[in-house]
Amino acid sequence: MIVEMRTGAIPEEVDGVVERAKSLGLNVQLNLGTDKTVVALLGRNTGQLSTDIFAVLPGVESVTRIMKPYKLASREFKAEDSLVSINGVEVGGKRVVIMAGPCAVENTEQLAEAARIIKESGACILRGGAFKPRTSPFSFQGMGKSGLELLARAREQFGIPVITEVVDPHDVDLVSGYADILQVGPRNMQNYALLTSIGRSKCPVVLKRGFSCTVTEWLTAADYLLAEGNSQVILCERGIRTFEDSARFSLDICSVPVIKRFSHLPVIVDPSHAAGHYSLVPAIARAAVAAGADGLLIEVHPNPKEALVDGLQSLTPSDFARLMDELRSIAKSVGRYI
Ligand code: PEP
Ligand code: MN
Repeated sequence: MIVEMRTGAIPEEVDGVVERAKSLGLNVQLNLGTDKTVVALLGRNTGQLSTDIFAVLPGVESVTRIMKPYKLASREFKAEDSLVSINGVEVGGKRVVIMAGPCAVENTEQLAEAARIIKESGACILRGGAFKPRTSPFSFQGMGKSGLELLARAREQFGIPVITEVVDPHDVDLVSGYADILQVGPRNMQNYALLTSIGRSKCPVVLKRGFSCTVTEWLTAADYLLAEGNSQVILCERGIRTFEDSARFSLDICSVPVIKRFSHLPVIVDPSHAAGHYSLVPAIARAAVAAGADGLLIEVHPNPKEALVDGLQSLTPSDFARLMDELRSIAKSVGRYI
């Protein structure tokens, strides 16, 4: 249930709503908007409560039920776009934020070279996996903690924020100690223990869409992060499983405007994992920016032929530089910049 306060409602009136909700055993989340406050009332039995219980309270403008399963991620709770700020880089505003780098952190030279290349081409966040969620237990699982140390070193050397994946709820403190953004992969989109732990950490997070999940399930998963008070949530479309097998996954480009319609959260696109092949990445990346994505997560390797993971879908430094030039003009044509 959403309680919209009147413009100019005084803090005591907001407190009155919060106290009434608590007396009924409900949880509350406040959206202190620029001109009005919205109070979300959360609990198992809100469906059984009459909206009049809150509508009669002083300072209340309206009370509505959110009929969708997701609440805090919805536009009903927060009408204005959310901005996620990462060390001065804002995601969800006019700038299209490019996050790029290798699939996996492999060694000092590889990561430093990747950071140099992507920064030179205008990317502003470095990606690199230290804990890799691999389909087979026999594949390279990532460097773990020593990979995190290399990421922290690259961040310091190149003055660029880093994003890296966390796969285990017990590693959230460890990974957030090194990373500026935590990545949750599609295999973990519904790992609620992991989401709750990241929610508590308050660390900025990129939540990838599970490859067999609907947009509604994805936004409801985002509620797990938001419910713990972590408002620094970015969604990432990375392709879903369909009957089509000509690319690695089917990129659901529709989800970008759909998310913009139903949610206030920023949404970025990962063209690399959808494509599975370097030759397809630029076209998908261009389409994503044209569709209104707030950023891209792209795999770039100094020497894709030598990559330990996902070399086939990684862009070379020169292909990435060319793509960035193309993206700049597309961003401009849709009123954005890179
Ligand atoms: C990745 O970003 O390196 C990755 C493993 O992607 P996904 O989890 O989307 O397959
Ligand atoms: Mn990868």
